[in-house]
Amino acid sequence: MSDCIFCKIAAGEIPANKVYEDEHVFAFHDIRPIAPVHFLIIPKQHVESLAHCGPQDEAMLGKIMGLVPRLAKEQGLGHGFKTGINTGKGGGQEVFHLHVHVFGHQAD
Ligand code: 5GP
Ligand code: ZN
Repeated sequence: MSDCIFCKIAAGEIPANKVYEDEHVFAFHDIRPIAPVHFLIIPKQHVESLAHCGPQDEAMLGKIMGLVPRLAKEQGLGHGFKTGINTGKGGGQEVFHLHVHVFGHQAD
């Protein structure tokens, strides 16, 4: 998707504060954090939303969810964190490239 901002971030065409990257997944800090730690995990491949996923996306979804606790811990959220996937206009989604929000604050 040539006009998708998260595709451009995953491709390194738009700068982002990177948390993690591998062949299929990219993670970066949210530009407008709602918590002291707030990052997003996305597939590098353009997928519009969770509503556009099906059985063919199980490996990608499993990969992303499996990374959540590891990256959360690395970002100082080992004591706990929140996750969210806003889906569709009615679900508050603003960027139509699938992303998992992970946010929280470091332990006292
Ligand atoms: P949504 O409501 O779609 O789940 O949330 C999209 C999130 O992406 C928002 O929290 C917003 O702050 C973040 N965001 C939007 N544009 C950019 C950007 O260019 N860079 C980064 N790092 N985050 C962005
Ligand atoms: Zn995209």
